[in-house]
Amino acid sequence: MHRFFVETPVSSNKAYLAGSEAHHLIHVLPASVGMEVVLIDGSGAEFDARVLRIERRGVELEVITRHAIDRELSFPFTLGVTLPKGDRQRWLVEKAVELGVQTLVPLQTERSVLTPTSTSLSRLRKVVIESSKQCGRNQLMQIDTPQSLETFQQRPPQESLQIVAHPTSGIPVSSIEDLRSSILAEGRPVFAAVGPEGGFSDQEFADFQGASWQAVSMGLRILRIETAAISLVAALTLR
Ligand code: SAH
Repeated sequence: MHRFFVETPVSSNKAYLAGSEAHHLIHVLPASVGMEVVLIDGSGAEFDARVLRIERRGVELEVITRHAIDRELSFPFTLGVTLPKGDRQRWLVEKAVELGVQTLVPLQTERSVLTPTSTSLSRLRKVVIESSKQCGRNQLMQIDTPQSLETFQQRPPQESLQIVAHPTSGIPVSSIEDLRSSILAEGRPVFAAVGPEGGFSDQEFADFQGASWQAVSMGLRILRIETAAISLVAALTLR
């Protein structure tokens, strides 16, 4: 069944699609009156709906049934990551949505090479919608405004598990398998941090340790930001 995202939360038996979603429905599908589609509004529910009226730039639909379907992880996962460039950034966001990350926080670090602009963030939010439609997720992953590393390090509430990815360099690392078991068993909020291509500086890493973040290593090779981030989320959450 084709899925469409409505900007305005569905609260009655009528819904209206506009913009690129309407374009897709009218011209790409293409829609006909009476056709049934699924609507998501990012609220954690999805709706069976039927096309009532097709206009030049919008489609009116009748909402038939609301289904509250939970496709979220059983614990909130916040991923702090220094965004890579261009397509790699889109890839990272798409996969983070698929794996169930609840909040993505772009990190500003000493060696960050790029500061995301509001235009690039709104482009990434569109990727979130596309990816959610494709993977069946009905709550949108939030992309926060960029945050300093210091703010992010202090952000997790007391009961959270805080994990920083850092290539092995003789420092003690936690076993990902043990962390995963406790995450799945305890359902505590998880915060994970992945650094820039140049890595976290010694001072930044010391600050993580000072704020009780646990370091994990992901093997003997240096992974690119997006590989490290997605591997870490998968290793900690898949059951
Ligand atoms: N030149 C940097 C590597 C940066 S890779 C250095 O040697 O530290 C970008 C980020 O991906 C790192 O900051 C880290 O968070 C993560 N990362 C990459 N490879 C990793 C590995 N093998 N284990 C743990 N984290 C890794």
